[in-house]
Amino acid sequence: MDCPLCGKEMKEGVISGGFKWVEDGRDAWEGIPLSTGLLGRAPKSFYCPDCRQIVLPVPENAGFMGAVQQKIDTASEKIGTVQRRWEAQRSQTKEQKKKKEFGSKDPWEL
Ligand SMILES: [Zn+2]
Repeated sequence: MDCPLCGKEMKEGVISGGFKWVEDGRDAWEGIPLSTGLLGRAPKSFYCPDCRQIVLPVPENAGFMGAVQQKIDTASEKIGTVQRRWEAQRSQTKEQKKKKEFGSKDPWEL
């Protein structure tokens, strides 16, 4: 990534530790955590030694709650697939049963 101030190539790295970016006048819990996933993996950030600036792109689903929400979404998606498969199987069995019953009936009985 090029520095947005001087245009030079920036050094790539991570900010280690569980830091948070907090907007002026807001409480710390409202801040954006600068780590992703349950293990708090730090995202890549870029440093320009000439301007002494660090650019840190905020990852999607940043922080603990983001990771939990992602896990929940994946799990509910899996459950949905299983449920659909089960329903399809059940209606298929019903259909077969119906056919069988119809076939075994004496036509004069109707
Ligand atoms: Zn620069």
